[in-house]
Amino acid sequence: MSGSRASDGQTDTHPVMAAALELRPRLVQWRRHLHQYPEPSMEEYETAAYVVEQLQKMGLDEIKTGVGKTGVTCLIRGAEGHKTVGLRADMDALDLEEKTGAEYASKKPGLMHACGHDAHVACLLGAASILADMREQMSGNVKLIFQPGEEGFHGALQMIRDGCLESPKVSAVFGLHVSVGMPSATIGIRRGTSHAQTDDVEITVHGKSAHAASPHGGVDAISVAAQVLIAVQQFIARHTHNLHQRLVTFGMIEGGTRRNILANSVTLRGTMRNLNLETRETLLKFLQKDLRKIAGAMGARLTVRITEGYPPLVNDDRMVDIAEQAARTVLGDERVRPVLDPGLGGEDFSYFGTEGKLPIAFVRLGIGDESEGVEAPVHTQTFDFDDGKALPTGAAFMAQVALQALGACK
Ligand SMILES: [Zn+2]
Ligand SMILES: [Zn+2]
Repeated sequence: MSGSRASDGQTDTHPVMAAALELRPRLVQWRRHLHQYPEPSMEEYETAAYVVEQLQKMGLDEIKTGVGKTGVTCLIRGAEGHKTVGLRADMDALDLEEKTGAEYASKKPGLMHACGHDAHVACLLGAASILADMREQMSGNVKLIFQPGEEGFHGALQMIRDGCLESPKVSAVFGLHVSVGMPSATIGIRRGTSHAQTDDVEITVHGKSAHAASPHGGVDAISVAAQVLIAVQQFIARHTHNLHQRLVTFGMIEGGTRRNILANSVTLRGTMRNLNLETRETLLKFLQKDLRKIAGAMGARLTVRITEGYPPLVNDDRMVDIAEQAARTVLGDERVRPVLDPGLGGEDFSYFGTEGKLPIAFVRLGIGDESEGVEAPVHTQTFDFDDGKALPTGAAFMAQVALQALGACK
């Protein structure tokens, strides 16, 4: 079913792609509405209500709200077959002040859809609309999963624990994320691990205050914190495997009360990322045990708190095959790209694999366009992209991957 190429580079003869292109104005409208009204993680009330309203307009009525607090699920029941395939989009925004100057910029001060989750919701609504019109031809069901709290709040886990993968039981889940590193309207496919294990790291150095002019009478927590910082980076560089991607970044440091008082304590806050779980164990041991000896040698004591973040996202080979076939079917071969390197970003879609124990595949939706100046990465105040160009690709992919997975799962 490969389509022929139209002059604008879109494969418009495949019926699913044609349907997605027809939906373009609505996809843009959905995304821009959500973009103007971003909500923080786990408080996506208006977003959830908007999603429900759009699904109802499509004639879909098997909708559940309040799943994992603010999550929404919607079942699109096929004419026959018992399998159910899950499609997921995340809904939360970030605490950032938007500086794009776009006419559809955030109307909420200090909040911005800077990770593209507005686009993910729009693509899933687009897929919903396409699939709703194809129910009679569907050999199974599709469950739409609109999840809250991806940005550090374990929203996927909360939805899974609240039963989003049950009644009917879901047998595989697919998702996508926008990527400015890939040309607009392409799909990036990666086998195996694609996102890192994340952990929050908080280290407090406990010293002893003294007059700044008599440091020997106390323990200078600031200078010990400097040693700790260097030691962590040195340990990573010299004592962990250099072919294993890993890092610890401290983004916050806090301590001291006055310029002329030796700091009593200093707290470092950061994040650890690992693709290799053995390396993670090595790093954990160093942070929790051996690092104390370095501080101890200078009379300081450490409190180390590690808060486990998201598990690594590991794509299932069979689901990746289905995702790749679906992308090639709707886009043609040139717009389907391999993603060679995994990222050290975290992504709680991984929970559908670990907690949900399901085969999963997560792809990237290209939104980059250097010639149009679309280069700002996610999580920045100027992040934006040509939604009219990229969204039909995302919507078509999501609809097609569900159809092909149902075919393969029969
Ligand atoms: Zn993000
Ligand atoms: Zn994101």
